[in-house]
Amino acid sequence: MANEKILVLVHTDPEGALPRIARETVTGAQELAAGLGAAFALGVIGTRAAEAASELAGAGASDILTVSGPEFEASRYASDAAAAEALARESGATVVLAPATARFARALPGAAHRLGGRIDTRVASVAAAEGKVRLQRGYYRQRMVGTLTREARPWFVVVDGGAYAAWEGAPGTAAPREVPVKLPESARRTKVLGVVEAGSGASTIRPDAPLLFVAGAGWTKKQGDGAAHVKEAEGLIRDFLDRTPASLGSSKSLVDQSGGEGEVISFMSHLNQVGQTGASPRHPKGLATCCHGEEPHVVGWRFVRERRAVNLDPGCGWARGKADVLYVADAFQVMARVNALLAGG
Ligand SMILES: Cc1cc2nc3c(=O)[nH]c(=O)nc-3n(C[C@H](O)[C@H](O)[C@H](O)COP(=O)(O)OP(=O)(O)OC[C@H]3O[C@@H](n4cnc5c(N)ncnc54)[C@H](O)[C@@H]3O)c2cc1C
Repeated sequence: MANEKILVLVHTDPEGALPRIARETVTGAQELAAGLGAAFALGVIGTRAAEAASELAGAGASDILTVSGPEFEASRYASDAAAAEALARESGATVVLAPATARFARALPGAAHRLGGRIDTRVASVAAAEGKVRLQRGYYRQRMVGTLTREARPWFVVVDGGAYAAWEGAPGTAAPREVPVKLPESARRTKVLGVVEAGSGASTIRPDAPLLFVAGAGWTKKQGDGAAHVKEAEGLIRDFLDRTPASLGSSKSLVDQSGGEGEVISFMSHLNQVGQTGASPRHPKGLATCCHGEEPHVVGWRFVRERRAVNLDPGCGWARGKADVLYVADAFQVMARVNALLAGG
């Protein structure tokens, strides 16, 4: 299909900041637009949308649209889907690129449906090939990659984090057009009173973090003195997470531990699990601690570009070409020293 009209759709967080993945999607839109010889428009939803639009004004969008106001500050399906629909209609977009945030993952399928369009998620790249838009996305927990194109429009393309470098150009001054949105009755019924984080797990998962810190079952195993030191382990991991913007991952063995047979790391949940039956995050760097590095775990690391591990066992899985650097050391000692250095000691 020639003459595509591209819209890159982003949202701010409730404080008005743009998530990094929004800037990554802008890079994806720039590359796609250049490949097609087309322009792209920018649509921003949420708190301080006009300021966020100015932050992205230097990216080269031909038109900048916003939807703002108190009704669009918090994540809510009814208002987000209505806002995305309004921006797609106003821009006349045939291809809508959007970041894979929880907020958009929930709302955009509905917007695509209302517009009679299609949507693809888990997209790792979107490019022009022979004048067509062609994307690549993962299947089977991202172990297989499919390349596809579609004729149906508008085509919503939800881009995974880490697929593109974040656009970091200088901010400009945008003169965005505010697009009116007619809120459906369901938006009036649903009031967002606040956000309560899940008791464990969720608050330690930080998709934008530069580092993935993985804890393995070794943290809860008997150590050289014949005893387990789970509370100490928990303190070291928590301390590190408090001092850095790292995201916490886990091996399956650690998250599978239940309270029945001894102490467990209290803030760890199945949401943290990395691997074949867990997540495949896209952090630039990863550090595995007390984790053996078995294949079903390490397969979840395939998008992590620089990998290091700390393990007492020089023959552990990481030593077999799975890590760039293996520190053969006691993770309790290493992390205590790292935390002391972070504290300025
Ligand atoms: C179908 C299937 C799917 C699976 N999916 C997943 C998955 O999605 N994710 C996943 O993680 N696993 C998965 N597994 C399980 C996987 O095969 C491993 O059993 C698991 O990853 C092992 O976890 P671990 O390395 O934390 O524990 P362990 O194998 O018990 O290793 C603990 C490590 O800690 C080290 N250690 C102990 N004390 C210290 C210390 N003080 N300092 C440094 N190192 C120390 C030990 O040397 C050891 O290497 C799957 C398995 C199957 C069969």
